Parts: sequence; C-alpha cells; structure tokens
Amino acid sequence: MEEHSNRRSDAGYRQIAEELIRWYIRSQRDLPWRRDTDPYRVWISEIMLQQTRVEAVVDYFYRFMDRFPTVAALAAADEQEVLKAWEGLGYYSRARNLHRAAKEIVDKHDETFPGTLAGIRSLPGIGPYTAGAIASIAYDLPAPAVDGNVLRVVSRLDGIESDVMLPATKKDVTERVRHMYIYGKANPLTQGLMELGALVCVPGTPHCDDCPVSEYCRAYIEGRQEDLPVRSPRQKQRIDKLCAGLIRNEGGILIAKRPETGMLANLWEFPLVERSRSRKQIVETFQDQYAIEIDSMEKTGHVRHVFTHRIWEVDVYRARGSAASDRCREVPLAELDTYPMPNVFQKMKKWV
Ligand code: SF4
Repeated sequence: MEEHSNRRSDAGYRQIAEELIRWYIRSQRDLPWRRDTDPYRVWISEIMLQQTRVEAVVDYFYRFMDRFPTVAALAAADEQEVLKAWEGLGYYSRARNLHRAAKEIVDKHDETFPGTLAGIRSLPGIGPYTAGAIASIAYDLPAPAVDGNVLRVVSRLDGIESDVMLPATKKDVTERVRHMYIYGKANPLTQGLMELGALVCVPGTPHCDDCPVSEYCRAYIEGRQEDLPVRSPRQKQRIDKLCAGLIRNEGGILIAKRPETGMLANLWEFPLVERSRSRKQIVETFQDQYAIEIDSMEKTGHVRHVFTHRIWEVDVYRARGSAASDRCREVPLAELDTYPMPNVFQKMKKWV
C-alpha cells in the first residue's frame, strides 16, 4: 500500500475513533434495524439503504420483516412475492440477489448467515461495502465499510485532495478507516462514521459546529469543508424517448412481463416501445413487439424517470385494444396492484 504523507499518527486516529464512538452512543437515531445485531436484519437494512433515504426505508423494512422474518422464509418465497415487497424501492436486482443469497444460505450454510468476511462476501449481491457493513455491525469484525458518506467524512477529516471517484482514493480511505478499528469497537465505529455522514458531515455545507471531531478535522481547521471531497464530474446520462400504452378492453388492462435479464428484469410493465414520429408508427410498433391490435389511442400524459445511468422520457397513451399473443396478460383492474411494477410504471397508474 502506497504511503500517503497526510496520514495521521496513531494517536490522531485513536482520538477520532474514541470521540466518534462516544458521540454515536449518545446521538444515534433509533432505527428498527439497530435494535439488535441479527445479521439477517443488518443485511436486509444495508441492501435497502443503498441509494435510498433512511426515512423511506423504515416502513419497507418493517413490512419486509413481517413478511419474511427469517432467512428461511425469504428463501422459501416466490421471486414475484419478493419483488412485490420491494416494489417502489427501485434497483430490483438488489431484491433478486437477496432472494438468491437467502437460498444459498439455506442450501450451503444450514440456514446460518456466514460469520466471516469472506463468507459474507461470497453471497450474491454483496460487494465490499455491504460485506464490511455486515461484518462490522453484526459481528464486530474490523472490516471497513466505505460508501459515499464515509468517503466524504474521511476526505474532510484528513484533508484528502484526490478524486474520491478513483479506486486508489477509495483504497486509501479504506486503509485509514481500518486503522481506526485498532482503537475502537467495529460496530459503533462503522455506525458512527455513517451517522456522522448522514446527520452532521452532510454534502454541501456540513454542520461543523455540531461535530464531535471538528477539533481534529483538517478541512474544518483550514476552512475547506465545502471544497472536499473532490469528485470528478459524472458522465452525462443517456436519455431514452419512449411510449407506454395503457391499453384497456372489456377484460381489463394489458400488462407484460419484462425479460428475465437486463433492466427491471422479471417485473411487470405497461407495453413500452420506442417513441416514433407518427401515431401510426407507434401503433405498428405495439403490434410488432407485443402483438397488440390498437383500436383507438390518445396521448394522456408524460412521465420522466431518472435511473442511475439513464433517463426515461415516456409519453403515455390511453388506448383500447387487445393482444393476440401470450407476450401480454390481460388483468382485471382490481388485480393490477398484485403485480410487481417498477416506479416508472406506478407513476402512470393515475391515468388508468
Ligand atoms: Fe465534517 Fe465539519 Fe466534522 Fe470536519 S468538522 S468532519 S467537515 S462536520
């Protein structure tokens, strides 16, 4: 590991670790997944919390735990049921991987969540961050969990000038966090870093007056809190222009299951095609791709949905028509909500 000149002394990391743990014990929010250190609960919460705000996760967490209280219950569930419980959280590959990992824990680990970093890391859908979070929170192992929050906090604390999007910077931050574990228990230290990033050392203007480690913070001492972390600009997102059909007939409404692989796999959609110049072409595309005969069609709204790497601009059409193949399923309106549908299609339901 390359030595970085602005690393602290051991005493410096000790002070930060001790202050942070004291502050965390005093100030932590009461969150349902913090009430014990059951690795199953820690795992589910960590996966839910990726890319999603804490406030939005709490209700999902309670519902998920009611429905799948143990890893065995999750493994035994049908994938469509798991996707339904995940509906609205987005990034559905996370739910599919949870389900696959639960089956693996039942089949290969005798229903017991692995207790080593390597064992946790071997499960589907668990990358270095999540493995570190579960290992340190559930098992108190000194395994750093470095996400965007922790990158921001440590960059400011240690005045790191290199781009946090670079793997080398992440590696450097990981080693600094690893060093802190020498001086404090892993569970409160990991959660203390996360909590500080969520509540105090927030993006933009941090609340340094409330910070338990401000006296050791290089960014604060030098007045550079808002300049750090250094981050290279994101690549421009691709824009997809699409048309969705809310296609009704006497039997109900037409929906289709998305392919088994790729974006939003195995979830249900309203028939969706690329936008064409003319209405005639749109009608023909619905026929080509879904074997749908459209009798009448009118534009009724527009939905914009931002994914991580792309944006969907969707013109929504209300139509009457029927499907001639089993690519589509005709469902009574009363049953529409029983099918797992991604948020972008949920937004269209108001026009059904
Ligand atoms: Fe973040 Fe400010 Fe605390 Fe430094 S003093 S860690 S910038 S909140």
